[in-house]
Parts: sequence; structure tokens; C-alpha cells
Amino acid sequence: MTEYFRYHHNQLYAEQTPLSEISEKFGTPCYVYSHAALTHSYRQFEHALREHEHLICFAVKANPNLAILNLFARLGAGFDIVSGGELQRILAAGGEASKVVFSGVGKTAAEMRLAIQAGILCFNVESEAELLRLNEVAGEMNRIAPVSLRVNPDVDAKTHPYISTGLKKNKFGVAYTEALDLYRKTSKLNNLRIVGMDCHIGSQLTELSPFIAATEKMLILADALANHGITLEHIDLGGGLGIRYLDEVPPAISDYVQALLRVLQGRSEKIILEPGRILVGNAGVLLTQVEYIKHGAEKNFAIVDAAMNDLMRPALYDAFHAIQPVTLESGKSVEQYEVVGPVCETGDFIGRARDLAISQGDLLAVMSAGAYGMSMSSNYNTRPRAAEVMVSGKIMQLIRERETVPQLFSGEKIFD
Ligand SMILES: *Cc1c(COP(=O)(O)O)cnc(C)c1O
Repeated sequence: MTEYFRYHHNQLYAEQTPLSEISEKFGTPCYVYSHAALTHSYRQFEHALREHEHLICFAVKANPNLAILNLFARLGAGFDIVSGGELQRILAAGGEASKVVFSGVGKTAAEMRLAIQAGILCFNVESEAELLRLNEVAGEMNRIAPVSLRVNPDVDAKTHPYISTGLKKNKFGVAYTEALDLYRKTSKLNNLRIVGMDCHIGSQLTELSPFIAATEKMLILADALANHGITLEHIDLGGGLGIRYLDEVPPAISDYVQALLRVLQGRSEKIILEPGRILVGNAGVLLTQVEYIKHGAEKNFAIVDAAMNDLMRPALYDAFHAIQPVTLESGKSVEQYEVVGPVCETGDFIGRARDLAISQGDLLAVMSAGAYGMSMSSNYNTRPRAAEVMVSGKIMQLIRERETVPQLFSGEKIFD
């Protein structure tokens, strides 16, 4: 529960809008986002960084809906992208290419061309082979591509192994010990211009120490570069700040930024951050309806109309999302449920062993679903993806229509 999603008179609201009204109007499953929550989280970063030159680059993969990108763009945000598709979304949403950093280990030549053409701020390059390709592509276009090397600082983010990215064994970035050499090679490539250095050590971090350790290592490297005559315009410390799903106590945005600024004291480089989850995670919920209650031999099941294709995190990471009834009713008895979807996989669960007072037809809100919810959704089992709705005060607005089944197979052809 946050101040943007809470109960009034036993009804769960998004800001001043009852979730039951959203379901009546737009159906379920449906993602619901709070405009005020999104704005507030972004402004906390801006405020905490106000005394240092900076750019907050929202990590688009956390939630790429155009309405969300447009909201952040209007607040002044830049963007961290991992594909050419995400760049096209930013341009369609009114974002500025000159505030875009492009991360990812597998950029294609076509994606590089698109990004050079658009005039992005920086390529976060993750390997020597990628550097060479980028130099070639830029050369063919008679352009100079701005680059940063994504350095792998080899620090343990102490998070789920699937979302830990800053260890030597991970596929991301260039090895810390090789970075200096690679910068020197880069400086000799004619169609590249060194503008920065970046790292991103993982996601859903709940402690400050790995961020501090990574920042310290980055600065040591930046100083070594300076000794070789390579100066940086910016240092990009990535994203990864965690949110509360259950009982985690992640650092507040202001404490996180202050911890970084303490390490960065006296530095003149511009600071770039790439927050994703922390900006959107607790600003969204997934609204779903109970289709059936089923009393199995050992467990009770609440079968809901949202599934792993709508919210993959529980199936993929065994992640926890709180589940709240949209209407609190005193007459119902509490029972323990496996909250599951209709998809034909035993891994298709939204929540396990949840104590809930519910019955068939009730609405449930799956909390903290604003990040890596809709963006990881699929059409598995030929399930049209959910609608998305933005709420501001009493206003609710559809920001993505529910898919229709014919849309799902419109590109398919019978073989003849
Ligand atoms: C995913 C990602 C982010 C955002 O991570 P969060 O944990 O959502 O803050 C930032 N930078 C890069 C390079 C990423 O891949």
C-alpha cells in the first residue's frame, strides 16, 4: 500500500478513483497507473540531484507505454534504451533523442544506424566487437558516434541471480581489468568519440553498499583514464534501486542519491542515472477478477483472469506481489489460497499461500506491478494482452487498448 493506492470506506482506490469503477469501464485484467506516483518518484530524483549536473534516464524496459514515456519526457527525463524499438517509442512519445543512452550487449548494425541518425547522447558499448562494429557503421554514415564503455565493476549486487549483472561471470559490460586498454583503443578509432563511462550492476538492490563500491571503482578507472589523457563528460551509474514488494526496506531515493554524491564529491563530470523499477514499480497495480474458487485436495485455488502471460515475475523469479481485495467485506471468512491464472503451466501463479477473504467474481489488485509487468507480458495461450489505464485524481484514461484475438494472428498466413 502506498499513498496512491489505498482504501477509503473499504474500497481500494487509485488516487481518487475506485478500482471497481476502472474494472467496470475497462474490464480485467487491466494495469492501472497513478500519474501522481510516477511524477512524485521522478521529482524525488531531480530534487536529490539538484546541485550536481545530471540527467535521469528512465530505463524504458521497465515500462515502455507511450503515455508513461511522454509523462517522463515532459518532466525532463532522458531515457535508457536497450533496442531500436525502444528508441522509436521515445520518438513517438515526444522524447528527445539527445537525452537517450543506448545499452545492451547485442546492438545490431541497423539499430546503430537508427540511433546515430536520431542523434542519441551516447552508446553504452558492452564489448570490443561492438566498438569495432559501431566505428564501422558510423564511418559508413560519415558520422562520429558518442560512446561510453559499460564497465563491469565486479561487485555483488546481492539480488536475484537472474537480475544480477555486475559480476565477472555475467554477460554484461567489459571486464574492469580490460577497460583501460579498451578506452585507449577506442580513442584511436576515427568514428567514435569517448563521452563517458557507465555501469549497471543489477536490479532490485536493497542495500547501498554495492552501489557505493561500484561508484568507487568507476572513479578509480576515470582517474586512470585522465592520466592517459582521456577525459569523460559524464559518469553513468546505471539503475537498480529496489522497491518494497513485501517487507524489503530499500534505501529512499534521497539516501541513495546522497550516498552516490558523497563518493562523487568534487567531481565535475555530469552524473547520469538509469532508474527503472523505482520510478514505476509502486506506481502501478494489476487489476484482476476471481473467475473461480476451487477447493482442491490439499490447497484452495483462487483462479483469476490474469496469468503469467500478463505478469511474469512470479513465474520467472518466484517474485512476491502483494494481493489485495478491491472491496473489503466483513462477512467473508479468511482462507488460504494459491492465486493462479488460467494458463496451462504449473508455474502459472500470481501468489502462493495467501490469506484472503474472497469469493467468485471479486476483484483483486496485484500490487507493485508497474515495473516489468506489462513490459514482460506475452500472448502465451493466445491471450490478448491487458488494457492499461492511467489515473490522475478522479480522471481515468485508457493508455493502451486491450488487444483483440484477431490482432494476435493478423500477421500469420496459411501455408499453401
Ligand atoms: C534494466 C536496466 C536498468 C534499470 O534497472 P532497474 O532495476 O529497473 O532500475 C538500467 N540500466 C540498464 C543498462 C538496464 O539494463
